[in-house]
Order: sequence, then C-alpha cells, then structure tokens
Amino acid sequence: MSDQYIQVKVQLEQMKALGEDTGRGGDVDAEEQLPASSPAASVSPDPSGIISTSVGSRPRGKVRTKQGKDAQNTGGTHAPDASSRGSVVSAHVWRNSNRQEHERTLHIEGTEKVLQGKSETNGNCVANLASKNNQETRREDGLKPARRRRPVTVDMSKAKTSLEALKISIKQLKWKEFPLGRRAACDIYWHGVSFHENENIVSGQVNKFPGMVEMLRKINLSRAMRTVQELFPDEYDFYPRSWILPEEYQQFSTQIRMVKENDATVNPTFIVKPDGGSQGDGIYLIRDPSDLKLMVGAQAKQGVVQEYIQRPLLIDKLKFDIRLYVLIKSLEPLEIYIAKEGLTRFCTEPYQEPSQKNLSHVFMHLTNYSLNVHSGNFVHSDSQSTGSKRTLSSVLYRLAAKGVDIKKVWSDIIALVIKTIIAVVPELRVYHQADIPPGKPGPTCFQILGFDILLMKNLKPILLEVNSNPSMRIEHEKEVSSGVFEYVPSPVDEEVKVGVIRDTLRLMDPGHMKPSGKSSQLRAGGFEHKEEIPIETETQDRSSDEGALPSLCLKQVYPKYTKQFNYLRLVERIASLFIRFLGVKGNMRLGPTAFRTFIRTCKLSNSNFTMASVDIFYIDSTRRWSGATTDSREAGMGLQAFVEAFYSLASRRFKSLVQRERVLSLLELCEAQLESQSGVEDRRSVSCSRALPRAAKTQTLGPNNGSPAPLRRAASQDNRPHPRLKHRTLRANVEN
Ligand code: ADP
Repeated sequence: MSDQYIQVKVQLEQMKALGEDTGRGGDVDAEEQLPASSPAASVSPDPSGIISTSVGSRPRGKVRTKQGKDAQNTGGTHAPDASSRGSVVSAHVWRNSNRQEHERTLHIEGTEKVLQGKSETNGNCVANLASKNNQETRREDGLKPARRRRPVTVDMSKAKTSLEALKISIKQLKWKEFPLGRRAACDIYWHGVSFHENENIVSGQVNKFPGMVEMLRKINLSRAMRTVQELFPDEYDFYPRSWILPEEYQQFSTQIRMVKENDATVNPTFIVKPDGGSQGDGIYLIRDPSDLKLMVGAQAKQGVVQEYIQRPLLIDKLKFDIRLYVLIKSLEPLEIYIAKEGLTRFCTEPYQEPSQKNLSHVFMHLTNYSLNVHSGNFVHSDSQSTGSKRTLSSVLYRLAAKGVDIKKVWSDIIALVIKTIIAVVPELRVYHQADIPPGKPGPTCFQILGFDILLMKNLKPILLEVNSNPSMRIEHEKEVSSGVFEYVPSPVDEEVKVGVIRDTLRLMDPGHMKPSGKSSQLRAGGFEHKEEIPIETETQDRSSDEGALPSLCLKQVYPKYTKQFNYLRLVERIASLFIRFLGVKGNMRLGPTAFRTFIRTCKLSNSNFTMASVDIFYIDSTRRWSGATTDSREAGMGLQAFVEAFYSLASRRFKSLVQRERVLSLLELCEAQLESQSGVEDRRSVSCSRALPRAAKTQTLGPNNGSPAPLRRAASQDNRPHPRLKHRTLRANVEN
C-alpha cells in the first residue's frame, strides 16, 4: 500500500467528517486536465468502505418487464456480487454497533431530554431525573424493560417511483408502511411529486414544501440567484450568467454583441433551457443570439439562456456532473443536511470544447442519464467506480489520488448548497405562510432536493440546477430484446438513494423530533438571525432502537455553519417584512394599501417621496413585473417585485453606500421602526387590558404575528382574497 494511498484515505476520512472549515483555503489550480486513464483507478480500494452506508441488500433477482410482470433474474450480467457487498455491510454493522456500545443515547419519552454517555450512565444525572420520573428510574435500574414505542407509520400511496427505495428504507427502520394509504392519520406522508398531491393532510409530516416545484423551475431559480447576486456578487459567482426568455432577449443580444465587438477573439457559447423542462428535453447550444428559437407557433417560449461552461473537468475524456442529495429538514429555523454520498453521471462521447460542428452532439455536452442511456456507448456497471453512472466517492477517490485537494472541493460544494438554499428560502417562506398559515392545522414539511453540480477544469463547482423532485428510482430500464424492456436493479442507485431516504426518515422520526413544532418554527421570523441556533449533534436524538443501523449518511451543514453564512440572509429579512404586511391569510401579493401601510409604518415617505409618489412607485413596480408572473389571476406585488422595490428605495435613501450596505441600512431602519411600533402597541394593550398576556417580543416580529391591529386591518382591507394556491400550483409530473 503506497504512501499516496494512505494520504488519499486520510484526506477522504477528513472529508467525511466534512472538514470543520468550510472557508476557502488556497486556490486549487488544476489547469492541467486529468490524464485520460488515471493510474489512480488501480490504487483506489472499494470506495464503499469509505462513504458507504448500506445495511443490507435486498434480493437481487427481481426484474420487472415494462408490461409490469415480475420475473426472476437468474444471474444476468447485471447481478451484483452479493458476497462482496455482504462483507462490506457486515463490517459496517459491526463498526456501528460497536460505537453504539460506547455512545448510548436514551431519549426520554415526552420530554426533549436525551441522556448520552458511556454504557454506564452517569448516576447523578439519572438520580436527579429519576426523582422526577419514576418510569425512567425503573428503566435505568433495569427493573422493567423499556416500553417499545409504536412503529412510525408512513403513507406511501403517493410515492410513485420512490416506492421501491422507500419500502427498503422502512423495512430497515422496522417502521410500518401503508402502500395504499390509511384512513387514520399517518406520521409521515411520502409524496412523489409535490406538496399538493394530498391536500387533506392536517398533521404529521410531508416530504414536500409548498412552492418548491415552482421555486426551482429554471426561470424562478435564475431570478432568485440574480436577486442575491446583486447584493453578494462574489459569494454567488457559482451560478452561470443567465437571461430570462423571452423578456430579456434584447438585453442578451445587445450584451453579447458588445462583448464580441470589444474582443473579437471571444466566442462564447450559450445553453438554452425551457422553463419547465427536465432530463435535457428541449435543451440546445448556440453561439449567436440570432440562433435562439424564441417562438413555438405563435407563442413565445419561456426559458433561460445561460452562459455555457466550456471547460469542465473531464475524467476519461468525458464530461460528467454530480448529483448531490440535500435535505431541507426545516425552513424556520433553517436546517440543511447534505448526503455524504452522491452520484456522478457521465457523458458517452469524448468532450471537445464547443464548436459550430459539435454543438448538436448531446452525448458530448449533456450529462443527463436519460439522454446518455440511449447512446450505444452507455456502460451499465455494478461497480461504483466504473460505467456511466458512478458514486461521488469513487470519483473523489480518483481525483484525490491525482493530488486534488478534495477537502476543498467538498467544502466549496457545501458552501454552494447552503448559499443556494439561502437564495430560495425567502420565496419558499411566502408560499409556506400562504398554504399553511400560522394557526392553521397543517403538516410539517421537509424535502429532499437534487443538486446538479458541474466541476470546472479548475475544480470550481458550478450550480446547473436544483431538482425539486430528484429521481429516487433504484432500477434502470434495460432492453433485453427488441422492444422488450426489463427493470433491473441498479446497485449504484440503490446504494446511494436508499441511504438518503432511510436517513431522512430517521431524522424526521416523530419520536425524536424536538418539541419546537411547526408554530414555533414559524415564529422565528427573520429578525433573530444574530442568535446562535443550537447545534444538533448526530449522536443526539438517535434511539437505541437504531443500534443496527449505520451512522447517518446525511450530515448537518446548517445551522452548523450559521456563523459563516448567516450574513447572506438579507433577502429573507426583506421577505419577513413582506409577509408581515401581506395581511390576509393565504395571500401572496401585496396590494397598494398594504404597500402604503408598509411605507408609512416604516416612516419611509418624506417631502421627496410623498404618499402620492409612493402610489406611482407601486404601480410602476407591479406593472414591470406583471408580465413576469406565471399566473395572471394574481394581481398585486409579489415578493420579487417587493425586493426590487426595496433595493430601489434603499438606493434612494442611502446614495453614498454600496448596494449591500444600502439594503442593510434600510432593513435596519424598517426593523427598528417596527420594533418601536410593537413596543407602543404592547404598552397600549397592557393599559387597555391587563388581563391579556403580553406578547413575547419574538412573536411581535414574526410573520403575520403581532402586527399592530390598525396595520393588520388596513392590510387586510386592501387585499382582496385571491384564488387559493391550489389552482396556482403547477402540477409538475416530472422527476430528474
Ligand atoms: P434538465 O433539467 O433538462 O436536465 P439542466 O439544467 O440540468 O436541465 O441541463 C442539462 C445538462 O446540460 C446538464 O446535466 C449539463 O450536463 C448541461 N448543462 C446545463 N447547464 C450547463 C452550463 N451552464 N454549462 C455547461 N453545461 C451545462
């Protein structure tokens, strides 16, 4: 075993611990493309031993024909080597249970207390608690075996293509599955596509957030990224420059013409993506704005045109991208987990920089599995480190063996994920308060997202897109004879996806949830960001029932890295103001009177900005955005228009500062005004009615909470109720 191998292993172990440091280290410059056939492949041991999280594999023989028949697959070429997998598995279980011996956690039912420590529990601690809780005393003394809690129930009637992976996960957790749904409420609802698949859920948890599908469509994501790029251009330089079609076509065309006129040697390429597209559908490359196909029949095509990354990192001469699974466990407070293992998807034709001749070579430029699987060069492999779909760890191994600082690559990827989520959270909060307003019974939401990331030749990660509905399929289709397809197990997919689903469920286990619950999450609002959010360690909250399970493959990155990233959450604070003035429950747009109320309450009008000019300002602003909304039934000012208006007000008021400081100054001014108003309101309510309890300060600042009564009245009079979100929601039925 070479020194190099040991170095790689140490580096990967450090990476696995996710490097406490997500800050930028020295620049990794791998300007040299990695050689086509890296010797590293031979040095790399089985990567499953490093990041693998599986605890057992399902029987492998099952295949399904496209016609829905089940058949036994008696050892086809794709059957994995069960024995070798088995040995990896047992090593994990042993390691894990060994750890459990030493680090036992005991969750005390009905409380949020967790006893933690060596097998010999701290006597004092137990004695103290025991005096309060006899049942626990008995449990600690071993007089009576701990009562097993009832299994967690999961409604998977809407799980669609996630079903197989979900079933395996539930089996491993020994939970109870309801494949056809259940009359009584379940603890967890697993939806295959969107929040709105079952509108009747009033309790429990659902694996989708309202608005996520809409928010992550290409146009909306590009807008959200642009909004934050205006404040933090350096921090958000990982998203390629994008123009929204058709509205920004002229801008795009003028800018490109100017770039080319300034420097004739520059010949950029652009990638055009339809707004609702997925799996590479409708995507094409262009080198000149005149090549854009703007119309479908008489209708303008909605989409984005984006700077094409011409120099991606190649492995075996092939372009590839990374699919990373990310869990948003909670919106407020924000909690993000990243899966330590992901997938890489390879092109099937050697890469060349774009030229007029190769622009249409999809197998060279697009990494989508759904496209490349139809190429004659696609390699299905049971190994995690070869073939056209590989595990992320196998690729990182390979890079590390070439001397790449993969710890830095990984920490850059974490930063990209956290920043992207920070960019989309403001609008998600608006959707959330509209669909599940505070006080209305509703489920708690969580969601697994699929981040598609490209590594540039210099190793900088670039965000391509975020999928609200990443494919959780663990089989792939195989054409066994002409026109006859079978679904055969895909070990690489199973390895990664079952771990992600199972560990998401473990994190959402209602038996282990902190009692903060939905209402207190929503109360947090945007004004408390300076507060440290307690960090949940991974050994906490895990029950001893989980003894046989491997350690979590999901790693918390937020609030863990709050200190590094919290300053980026400015737009979320603007969203808090917006939500506060929305007034009517279920509304997502601000009417003119509510906007006036905002200006007046925050004391933003003056002799140069009279209330008459406020009205004109409102009309101009909403008119500019009226073409941009996907649903013309929604009148008024949406969040994006409000943020733009806020930036503009900030520029008027604080001319001498740079944009970010202007916005921050205006925010602080508004927040201070609201706080003082709340104080007045509080005092008034105390003198009027001593019987009423004083509202907590945090409550007065939260969305829709504690807004002064006259303010609420004015806001609600102004906002005619708009059609409920049900109709607005796009029923996307795609997964990527
Ligand atoms: P879809 O949702 O249709 O898959 P993507 O945005 O993921 O659309 O793009 C499809 C593929 O095109 C990506 O997997 C990637 O290989 C390639 N791609 C997308 N955007 C860029 C870009 N800006 N530069 C280079 N390649 C890109």
